[in-house]
Amino acid sequence: MTPTFEDARLEPIRQKVESGVALNFEDGLTLYRSPDLLGVGWMANLVRERLHGDATYFNVNRHINPTDVCVASCRLCAFGKRAKDPKAYTMSLDQVWEVAGKGWSEAVTEFHIVGGLHPELTLDWYCQMLRGLKERFPQVHLKAFTMVEIGYLAQRAKLSARDVLQQLRDAGMDSLPGGGAEVFSERVRRIICDHKITGEQWLEVARTAHQLGLHSNCTMLYGHIETEEDRVDHLLELRALQAETNGFVTFIPLAFHPEHTALQHIPKTTGFADIREIAVSRLMLDNIPHIKAYWIMMTPRIAQIAQRFGADDLDGTVVEEKIYHDAGATTSQNLRRGELLRLIREAGREPVERDTLYRPVERAENTFTVLV
Ligand code: SF4
Repeated sequence: MTPTFEDARLEPIRQKVESGVALNFEDGLTLYRSPDLLGVGWMANLVRERLHGDATYFNVNRHINPTDVCVASCRLCAFGKRAKDPKAYTMSLDQVWEVAGKGWSEAVTEFHIVGGLHPELTLDWYCQMLRGLKERFPQVHLKAFTMVEIGYLAQRAKLSARDVLQQLRDAGMDSLPGGGAEVFSERVRRIICDHKITGEQWLEVARTAHQLGLHSNCTMLYGHIETEEDRVDHLLELRALQAETNGFVTFIPLAFHPEHTALQHIPKTTGFADIREIAVSRLMLDNIPHIKAYWIMMTPRIAQIAQRFGADDLDGTVVEEKIYHDAGATTSQNLRRGELLRLIREAGREPVERDTLYRPVERAENTFTVLV
């Protein structure tokens, strides 16, 4: 049954959504400015159910952050540290492999590997890390390195991003996680992350990865100094690249966590804003298959509700995650399988355990099979 929206400005958007017409810049602004969150959410849920029915996906993964040493000093960041900072750490290769092996009985299907821009770790070191992981855990998908890390490795090795991606792929990298996109606006990047590659370069690395057959995710960091126009532009840039490469699998809106950053005067995002971000991204990114409510950042409570506002994925049972917890995230670092299932079922959705590429995983005790 079609409800009557409180905000009449949503009616023409509803007609487009119902007939599968892509939304434009003005539509995006209206979605961000409408107080009728239920109306926006109703449309996002329509798209979500059209694509995925009642399925909500999750996976069993582990995060590995090999180093927090970083040459950049992004104002948005509470994770990166200077090499001489007594609290900085860099794992040896053996430590990376050891961390990967902890909790192995959970039959992890994915390692999510990101870290700082280390001034001394070489491309060869990262290739060895990947090879070592593949030797030890051949069935585990290695989702590794943001476009920013790829850009930095290319700069240091004096190679093209294509060469770096090829070497990493040959060493075992299976896909890329999609972080570091922040907001593509130059004005915003100059203030929050001026040491990072530009938005254009981020998109170019993603384009190259997709051309090489590597899938990736994509993200947007919201809730800092960006405007609604910046957000709509960002989403439209991602949609345009997807129309060209079809390489993005999942979009993940990331709420800015201000604690312990140089921008800690900025208030945290609200539940209303987080839910709206999920819904708007589902509506604007009609050609990206999945929208993830990353419970680590949103809290399990908000992520659970997001399943009725456009999200079809809750991420994984993450045993150890450092980046957002350095920035003050107060969520548990480890949501077990049973708890995820409860969050999904209580929202009237059907849990589907997946691997990184959304193939269903069937489990029996501690063994698992990816259904291809
Ligand atoms: S956001 Fe990334 S690149 Fe920037 S300082 Fe933090 S770890 Fe380094």
